[in-house]
Amino acid sequence: MRLFDTMSREVKDLKPSDGKTFRFYCCGPTVYGPAHIGNFRTFVLQDVFRRTLELSGMPAFHVRNLTDVDDKTIRDARAAGKTLKKFTDFWRDRFHEDCALLNNLEPHLEPSAVEHIPHQIAMIEELMEKGHAYRSDDGSVYYKVSSFKGYGRLSRLDQRELRAGASGAVSEDEYEKDSVSDFALWKARRAEDGENYWSSPWGEGRPGWHLECSAMCREYLGDSFDLHSGGVDLVFPHHENEIAQSEACTGHTMADHWFHLTHLLVDGGKMSKSAGNFYTLTELSEAGFSAAELRYVLISAHYRQPLNFVAKDKEGEETFPALAGAGQALQKLAKFSHALAQQGQVEVSTGFDDLKKVAELGSFAPAFDGLLDDLNTPEALGQVFTAMKGIKPAELSAEDARREFLGLSVIMAALGLQLPVVEDEAEVDAPAKIVEMAQARWQAKQDKDWGEADRLRDELAAAGWEIKDTKEGFELCPKS
Ligand code: AMP
Ligand code: ZN
Repeated sequence: MRLFDTMSREVKDLKPSDGKTFRFYCCGPTVYGPAHIGNFRTFVLQDVFRRTLELSGMPAFHVRNLTDVDDKTIRDARAAGKTLKKFTDFWRDRFHEDCALLNNLEPHLEPSAVEHIPHQIAMIEELMEKGHAYRSDDGSVYYKVSSFKGYGRLSRLDQRELRAGASGAVSEDEYEKDSVSDFALWKARRAEDGENYWSSPWGEGRPGWHLECSAMCREYLGDSFDLHSGGVDLVFPHHENEIAQSEACTGHTMADHWFHLTHLLVDGGKMSKSAGNFYTLTELSEAGFSAAELRYVLISAHYRQPLNFVAKDKEGEETFPALAGAGQALQKLAKFSHALAQQGQVEVSTGFDDLKKVAELGSFAPAFDGLLDDLNTPEALGQVFTAMKGIKPAELSAEDARREFLGLSVIMAALGLQLPVVEDEAEVDAPAKIVEMAQARWQAKQDKDWGEADRLRDELAAAGWEIKDTKEGFELCPKS
């Protein structure tokens, strides 16, 4: 598989450095409220990435953390009158529910910041010993950015920009520090932290946000691992600071590959509560849309392109035309897959692990190639529909139908698309009298006797049967 690497600005081949398992880390959610559909663009595409790796035959080890202590979690837990643990556990569970609805695979490990305070303290001690960190008078500890030569490599910031405070984010801390770009490793306890503090060699306080990922990566993936990922907003300062912390400690390259996902826009703008365009999965399901439809929309653009989620129509009504379109596409895919399964008399299991064993993707091979080439999800979807145009399930041999069914199933599994269930209309047998009437109507239509055809259609309807015209003739189904 090939993927764009933010560090080298090149599309590079992915190989596990241990020759066996591809080990990667994704920065996880801050659990202080519901994740929005922008967050899920990132988490869903990271999931498609992992699914593609595994289906291509490469075992993966996926670690994703939970940020359960920071300024926002503490502020909102206190405002809600709950302990930090109770508050963040609630939002963690809600996040897990949304992930399950969206059909994201669970990461192999999901460590949390609060569970790794000793690891973070140990890392600060090491950074202090090595001359990369200093304690300020109030008991906070800062990373000395000027002590790390490679700082700014990922985001391509030079020292000049850093001195000037390249973004609001570097100067957000109100604590005392030597340089505007230095960032907090340990934040001394303040009154507004309430009971949320831990003891350390520098006094009571809590770790800075960037440190948790460095500590947990090292604990579970070692000094060096294969890939690190997050939304594009994390390139600077979060990932830049992670690199500075980890590499100054270990002396090794933290990650061989940096995978960043471009943001989701809503109706052409940034998503925010104040703009009224902040959507969660729950809100969309209340509006009548499924998680699979949202997933389809989220994968419909390449991860390096901005994706504009269309929520409102021209009149400003929240009609979610993008989701409605996704629903139609999923129905089409479901019917096609169902027709292949029927024609192939499929009895094979299509669980994710079974699909890893499928060697031949038939007409759907180009769709998988799209995913292997820089995770091109829109290309994969386009190739699926192109392949479908060239296949008439009813004309295939059972063996060919089975092969195409499995090929399509592998692509759906890579994209994580769960197709809606197709009702077997043909399985309901109409009584002989009804079939006779339907045949008479069909004959009337052939004879262009429209009056008689309409009369028979109404009579059938009165008897509880609906007649649909098809290319081959007609189909009878009980009226719902
Ligand atoms: P957070 O919970 O804020 O730490 O964010 C979780 C993940 O979602 C991070 O990888 C962010 O970079 C990512 N993210 C935040 N906003 C968006 C957005 N609008 N589109 C895509 N990803 C986002
Ligand atoms: Zn992180």
